[in-house]
Amino acid sequence: MRAQRTDWQNLEQYFQPFERLTKRFISNLDEAKVAKMNVSLPQQTLPNDGLSLLECVQQLEQSIIPQLSAARGPRYWGFVTGGATPIATMADWLVSSFDQNVAKAGDSVASLVEKQAMEWLCELFELPDNFRGVMPTGATGCNFLAACIARQFAGVQQGLDVAKEGVYKLDVEIFSTTPHASMLKSLGMAGLGQKSITIINSYVNSEAMDISHLNTCLEKSQAKSKIIIASSGTVTATDFDDLKAISVLSLQYDAWLHVDAAFGLFERVVEGVNGKTKGIENADSITVDCHKWLNVPYDCGVFLTRHLDLLEQSFDVPAPYLENFGNEPDYMSLGIENSRRFRAFPVWLTLLAYGREGIKSWVESNIKLAKGLANWIDASDDYELVYPCQMNVVLFRPNTTDLTQQEADNKTKKLLQTINQDGRLFLSPGIWQGNQIIRAALSNWQTDERDIEIAKEVLIQFS
Ligand SMILES: *Cc1c(COP(=O)(O)O)cnc(C)c1O
Repeated sequence: MRAQRTDWQNLEQYFQPFERLTKRFISNLDEAKVAKMNVSLPQQTLPNDGLSLLECVQQLEQSIIPQLSAARGPRYWGFVTGGATPIATMADWLVSSFDQNVAKAGDSVASLVEKQAMEWLCELFELPDNFRGVMPTGATGCNFLAACIARQFAGVQQGLDVAKEGVYKLDVEIFSTTPHASMLKSLGMAGLGQKSITIINSYVNSEAMDISHLNTCLEKSQAKSKIIIASSGTVTATDFDDLKAISVLSLQYDAWLHVDAAFGLFERVVEGVNGKTKGIENADSITVDCHKWLNVPYDCGVFLTRHLDLLEQSFDVPAPYLENFGNEPDYMSLGIENSRRFRAFPVWLTLLAYGREGIKSWVESNIKLAKGLANWIDASDDYELVYPCQMNVVLFRPNTTDLTQQEADNKTKKLLQTINQDGRLFLSPGIWQGNQIIRAALSNWQTDERDIEIAKEVLIQFS
């Protein structure tokens, strides 16, 4: 093929085969194996002249599509994974059709759409309207911005502009209990160090922060600046830190408070401002993912802060040809990338199309289904519910009575492998209190009772 301007006059030739591929892939999700465990691509060198459209489509049908996971389907319960709704899927297709670069305002409405999408998200989560932000690629991107803005804040406290002068002279202590692995990675990337955290105790049998231990450690700290990294929804136990209490301490000790609420913030859509996220409105910055429970396609995170000026100081792009003519900071001066995908658009259209009640309904349903599955596991003689289901994650393992820990771990690993190879479900591993466990995380808008019945069948078969 040769790309030609006139191609646009005959869009049908693309629509037809790509529509067929889309329909085939999506309509097959219920029957297809959820995970494809042994995948390969045929050896092939770079074509010199390129293939015809027909040949390309044939290749997709033969070697790509049959080997894709059904991660967007209703029974992919690994990690915390959403699946794009029809509206979000089509919106994402339009993102490529529009091909906007949401770097700065001045040539398109796209940056206003990003701003409005974030305002709507603040309404959805009932956050005060002084939260502003940017949409990075995901929660890891958000946590990296959090590390950078927190170090900038620490710099201001110490008379240093860290973005300009570096972290070398910074004196800072970081406090956290169960930071997500991506938060550690982010602290490393930000020059603060993955190992630099003062680990605060959790409560017994929980991943949530022990507030009195935090208080003790803050009191003892000699550091000039302090950063607290809290969790609203840990990935294993879905525990929530007590943000009301933590935010009081952060004020008292003049510490930055970052909250990783990648999926936990959605609890607020169901339970409101007095639920598990109570106090998050006092955070200095918040991480949330849209490609998880909002069910928009990868990749899309939202970073919110009450200190946009510090974010801009951290990421400002100094170049004359990039001069900003408005009074709003440009998005490229609020995050990692200069050139940015219009990833706000599927979020904007999702909020417009489904509204608060639409989103609430699938979050509520996922929680109810997870609790139902947990009760069934708890009542079963063949399985152990490892931790009470508090939200959308079920932690379990096979019955390990009379087994040594080693035997129990092996039995659990083997079961997980058998389940994932079977292909009706996809689950991921975890560790709880030092033991190997299996995690089922429900955050897909389509998951319903039928999927829970299939899961029970699978668990009965392999018990
Ligand atoms: C998923 C998750 C992350 C990482 O998110 P990505 O979107 O994969 O970058 C960070 N923190 C928490 C709590 C998460 O659940």
